[in-house]
Amino acid sequence: MEFNIAVIHGDGIGVEIIDSAIEVLGAVAKKFGHKFNFEPVSAGGNAIDKFGEPLPMAELEKCLRSDSVLLGAVGGPKWDTLPGHLRPERALLGIRKELGLYANIRPARLMPILKDACPLKKEVAEKGFDMIIIRELTGGIYYGERGRRIGQNGVEAYDTELYSEMEIERIARTAYEIAMGRKKQLISIDKANVLESSRLWREVVHKLNAEYPEVKVTDMLVDNAAMQLVRNPSQFDVVVTGNMFGDILSDEASQITGSIGLLPSASLGESGRGMYEPIHGSAPDIAGRNIANPIATILSVAMMLRFSFKLEKEAAAVENAVNAVLEQGCRTADIPGNGTTPLGTREMTANIIEKI
Ligand code: NAD
Repeated sequence: MEFNIAVIHGDGIGVEIIDSAIEVLGAVAKKFGHKFNFEPVSAGGNAIDKFGEPLPMAELEKCLRSDSVLLGAVGGPKWDTLPGHLRPERALLGIRKELGLYANIRPARLMPILKDACPLKKEVAEKGFDMIIIRELTGGIYYGERGRRIGQNGVEAYDTELYSEMEIERIARTAYEIAMGRKKQLISIDKANVLESSRLWREVVHKLNAEYPEVKVTDMLVDNAAMQLVRNPSQFDVVVTGNMFGDILSDEASQITGSIGLLPSASLGESGRGMYEPIHGSAPDIAGRNIANPIATILSVAMMLRFSFKLEKEAAAVENAVNAVLEQGCRTADIPGNGTTPLGTREMTANIIEKI
C-alpha cells in the first residue's frame, strides 16, 4: 500500500527523532512491501524564522493533503518572548483545529523490565501497567465561554465547561472501538457528583454501551482516578475522559512510566487521518547531541500504522522491536540506567531497525 505522510521535524530534538522515525518507516516499507511518501512541512520556530509565522497556509495545506501527519516537537527559548499568536505552539493548535482532531490518545505503559525507572512503590511498579488514556481534545472548559466581569466582590473571572451529546458520543465511540481491540474494559472518568456536564457525559457513555455490549464500562470520579493512578495503575486499561481531566491525568500517567522519552501519542478526527507525536517537547537542552531518546517518536509511528493506516501487523512489528531492544538492555541516557553505557539516538534507532 502507498501512503503520503506530512512530516514536521520542528525544532530542537524534533529534527533528530523524526529522522529516526523516517528510517524506521523505511524499514517497515521494505519488510512489508509498502511505499511511504514523505512531504516535509515547516512549522513551529523554524517556520517563524523562515516565513515570519508558525504555520503558514501553504504548510498547513500539505498536512490537509496528507494521509497523516508525523510531528517531532516545536518550540525553544529563541521564540519564548514572541507574542502568543506568533509562538511555535500555535502551529499545533492550528493543525489540530484544521484537521478536526478531537481525540487524543496516549498510551502509558510500564514494562516490567523498566520497573526501576518507575517512581512508585516497588510492589506497585513490579506489577507493571499498560493503559491508554483517551482525552477529548476540542471541547470542554478550554473552549467554553470565558470572561471577566465586575461582581459583588470586585473583579471576577469565569470559564465554562460545556459538552454537547454529539461531542461526548464521538469521543466515547473512539474509546469503545479501542476497548474492543484490547481487554474490552473501559473506565470513564468524570465529576458527576458535582458537574451537570459530567452527568450528561455519563448518560451518553452508558447509552452508547448498547452498541458495544461486550465492553464493560465503569465510572470513576476524577479525584479518585488521580489517586488510583498512583495506588494501583494496573487496574486501568482503556480510559476516556474530557479535555481538562484528560490533560491532567495523562501527564500524571506519563510521569509514572519513568521516562518522558518513551511515550507516544495520537490525535485523531473523523477522517482517520491523525497527527502523531511524542508527548515530550523539543528538549533544547539536549538538541543536536545525538542523545535524545527516539523511542516515543518511533512508537508514535507504530500508532500511525495502526490507527490511520490499519496496518496492525506492521505496528506490532515496530512495538515488538522496541520491546526487544529494551529487554536486551539497550538504554538511552534518559532511562534510569542498568549499568550499561547509554546509546545515542542513531545507535538506538539502528538497534530497533535491526529487530524489525
Ligand atoms: P521537554 O519535554 O522538551 O523537556 C523536558 C525534559 O525532558 C528535558 O530535560 C529534556 O532534555 C528531557 N527530554 C524530553 N524529551 C526527551 C527525549 N526524547 N530524550 C531524552 N530526554 C528528553 O519540555 P520543556 O523543556 O518544558 O520544553 C521545551 C520546549 O518544548 C518548549 O519550547 C516547549 O514549549 C516545547 N514543547 C513542545 C511540545 C510539542 O511540540 N508538542 C510539547 C511540550 C513542550
